Amino acid sequence: MSDVGSRLQQVRARIEVAAARAGRDPSQVVVVAVTKGHPPARVDEVLEAGLDQIGENRVQEARAKQPQVRRPATWRLIGPLQRNKVRWALELFDWLDAIDRWEVAADVSRRGAQAGKTVPVLIEVNAGGEVQKHGLAPEAVDAFFSRLGDLPGLRVQGLMTVAPLGEDPEAARPVFRRMRELRERLRDRWGLALPWLSMGMSHDFEVAVEEGANMVRLGTALLGPRPATPGR
Ligand SMILES: *Cc1c(COP(=O)(O)O)cnc(C)c1O
Repeated sequence: MSDVGSRLQQVRARIEVAAARAGRDPSQVVVVAVTKGHPPARVDEVLEAGLDQIGENRVQEARAKQPQVRRPATWRLIGPLQRNKVRWALELFDWLDAIDRWEVAADVSRRGAQAGKTVPVLIEVNAGGEVQKHGLAPEAVDAFFSRLGDLPGLRVQGLMTVAPLGEDPEAARPVFRRMRELRERLRDRWGLALPWLSMGMSHDFEVAVEEGANMVRLGTALLGPRPATPGR
């Protein structure tokens, strides 16, 4: 078995234990393999290990890497999207998981509609309230959702967050809990299904699963440390 395969087994075991603690079904938790900083051959290893959701956080990096990946995958943009990259992002990615501004959402919708597509997206929320983080402020989310009818070319399928990075994964728990509550409230208020709650990374995914994440984004836990990339 590849190193990715054995790490994936450990990750699945940890998800099972975390899900059991919360009385949840572990099969409901989707693992997105975050392959940023890793070469295309590593992406193929991830796909061979049985995962099919690939997360990249930069449009250019995905553009360079994708033609060299041999196996089919669902590609997800998990990093911020700039307006001048929307066209490329729609060619390269199946899902846009970090939509955090109305202007970008509007561009995605317009281009999606032009291409006859309804682009599935997640809305990134800055639930930890850190100034340097991307994401809509929790107070801004309702105003955003109130105008979704103006965006026929995209379909909001859930929420995503990056919790504050700390020594202790427990520190992320209130942030994850706030996200779960926000999703429930948005579902009730706007009558949307919002099936996905993408939260939890290598250092805090167990806490995220306990708090209701059904999509975790894992790089280091699956692939080991990212190789140093020259020029970044
Ligand atoms: C890099 C990244 C991850 C994965 O980080 P790890 O700590 O390596 O698991 C998850 N989500 C986002 C948005 C990232 O940029």
